[in-house]
Amino acid sequence: MSNAKKLGLIAEKIAQCKKCDLCQARTKTVPGVGNPNAEVVFIGEGPGKSEDQEGEPFVGRAGALLNNIIEACGWAREQIYIANIVKCRPPDNRNPEDEESAACRPFLDLQLKVINPKYIVCLGAVASKHLVRESSLTALRYDQNRDGLYKYEKDTVNAKLLCTFHPAYLLRNPPKKKESWQDMLILLSEMEKDNGTNEL
Ligand code: URA
Ligand code: SF4
Repeated sequence: MSNAKKLGLIAEKIAQCKKCDLCQARTKTVPGVGNPNAEVVFIGEGPGKSEDQEGEPFVGRAGALLNNIIEACGWAREQIYIANIVKCRPPDNRNPEDEESAACRPFLDLQLKVINPKYIVCLGAVASKHLVRESSLTALRYDQNRDGLYKYEKDTVNAKLLCTFHPAYLLRNPPKKKESWQDMLILLSEMEKDNGTNEL
């Protein structure tokens, strides 16, 4: 079965899911979007208002900024995959609760297992906390600057992982864009080391 088909089946399961309270206020579930064989997967927090209406992650204002970041890396949105920690919109755009994130986690794990990316980018503290460790984004980025990318090993996935700011945070704190780009450069140079290029 193709990866596209497998991801489609996961999306069908997500559409029926009632494992946490976030199912109650959702308009559409937001499973993920992009290349089913992506080398790079970006992971956000959860759908916002526009995403809840469209059923696609990062289509609002934060999504436009994410697209700029992706393009600045020399990539197109269609080449990578984008998903979230939770697949249903938290009311008033609050952060997902740990319980909700835990309830939804098997879907993300399945998606990552199918895609089997070489690189994962955690957008913001919520994704970083769940995929790396419970810690502030500042501390995670500090260690990353010193020691290099994190390792993500789960099931059959063995990827290098970058923690960086969430695009919604960058919209509120534009001066941080410079640091966000420095983070992306760590990833790009690691890809170049691994593959002789950071093109996709
Ligand atoms: N913020 C997120 O974390 N995910 C989205 O899909 C949109 C905004
Ligand atoms: Fe299910 Fe995840 Fe939606 Fe909760 S957020 S209802 S676990 S799909």
